[in-house]
Amino acid sequence: MDFSLSKEQENFEKEIEEFCRKECSDVDIAQLEETGTNPEDIERKLVEKGWYGLVFPVEYGGLGQRFFDLGLLLEGLFRGGYPYPGRFQITMLNAMNLFRNGSEEQKKEILPKVIQGELTMSISVTEPNAGSDIASMITKAIPKDGGFSINGQKVYSSGAAGENNIIVLGARTDPTKPRHKGLTIFLVPSRTKGIEFRRLESLGRRIGGLYEVFLEDVWVPKENILGALNNGWSVMTNGFNEERAIVSAGYLGFAERIFNDILQIIRTRSINNKMLGSYPSIVQKVAEFATEVQAAKLITYRSLVTVDEGKPAIEEVSQSKLYCSELVKRLGDFGMEVAGGSGYLMNSMVQWYFRESKIVTIGAGSSQIMRTIAGAALGLKSK
Ligand SMILES: Cc1cc2nc3c(=O)[nH]c(=O)nc-3n(C[C@H](O)[C@H](O)[C@H](O)COP(=O)(O)OP(=O)(O)OC[C@H]3O[C@@H](n4cnc5c(N)ncnc54)[C@H](O)[C@@H]3O)c2cc1C
Repeated sequence: MDFSLSKEQENFEKEIEEFCRKECSDVDIAQLEETGTNPEDIERKLVEKGWYGLVFPVEYGGLGQRFFDLGLLLEGLFRGGYPYPGRFQITMLNAMNLFRNGSEEQKKEILPKVIQGELTMSISVTEPNAGSDIASMITKAIPKDGGFSINGQKVYSSGAAGENNIIVLGARTDPTKPRHKGLTIFLVPSRTKGIEFRRLESLGRRIGGLYEVFLEDVWVPKENILGALNNGWSVMTNGFNEERAIVSAGYLGFAERIFNDILQIIRTRSINNKMLGSYPSIVQKVAEFATEVQAAKLITYRSLVTVDEGKPAIEEVSQSKLYCSELVKRLGDFGMEVAGGSGYLMNSMVQWYFRESKIVTIGAGSSQIMRTIAGAALGLKSK
């Protein structure tokens, strides 16, 4: 498999690097976390670049580039300092779902607005008793006045309360069918009557806000169904490989960023008149992490290429999601170790990396689930 970048892709990487140097160098993480907002200046610049439309066809206002290029973009943005995971990644994952499963009308209506920065997207499928086992969701949608009335509660919805946000929301539409069969996905504008958001106090993921979503008689027209009625399971899962390959690229970029900052710390911190980076125990560990970051790059590129080629990619993607997320988590820990007391202060980036690194092995399919899938790809059934 050939992972070498074309001349255009090399130039694209340089362009992303330059973008981050210019736009992301003085992001005030603490302020964004406190207010639960996004870095609007950077988001506007991403729109101006056309990057919200990178992989969408020209007919919707996109740039029509390859899926692999979106991986390069996410890797480069997170490596360069765009605050992880940001509205960009969350919106991209949901807009790609819309592109896969939406009707032509929905695509024509929503995608150009996403690309122009007029709409954002988020997902609300998790409920207090339906996380990894998402098919257990109990939020209900019943037919009413030519549409559906939705009642229930969602939890851990990243960025759901944004003003011009479309929530990709799961609900049970036929309780008589087996669990996976009676579900439907709806496109629900965040300002629809009957929706209430409550911001959650969380360890990380404070940028853009993490929310509980309460739905009381929330009415949406039937045209807002994404995919078909009672086909929600397929709509949620038919893009898992694409989504997890993209998420892996984001973890890769985040891992590179944490690693580069660790290098910076050990090259500049002197203890007993000796650079921290000359202590053998540190050198050994850093060299190991450097190797792992390169391995993460290859395993992620393998996923992106396989998905780009339209192949199943189950083994490739479960392994890259597992490997990259676990690497981010370990780098988050190591950053705290090498920074010593200074990493413990809330004004240090290292504590932010540490906090953000704690969710990556849980969200988008936990490490346990990725191991189960990777095992099944080898013909090993977990019972
Ligand atoms: C910061 C954050 C942001 C999130 N953003 C969103 C969002 O935007 N939209 C959304 O809908 N959801 C979101 N989630 C929810 C996230 O997807 C769930 O937390 C995740 O699916 C796990 O579900 P759970 O928390 O209920 O844990 P549980 O499902 O209760 O899992 C608990 C533990 O059991 C393990 N486990 C579960 N099932 C198995 C199994 N079959 N085999 C082995 N081990 C298993 C898990 O790996 C985990 O370690 C977010 C969560 C967090 C914390």
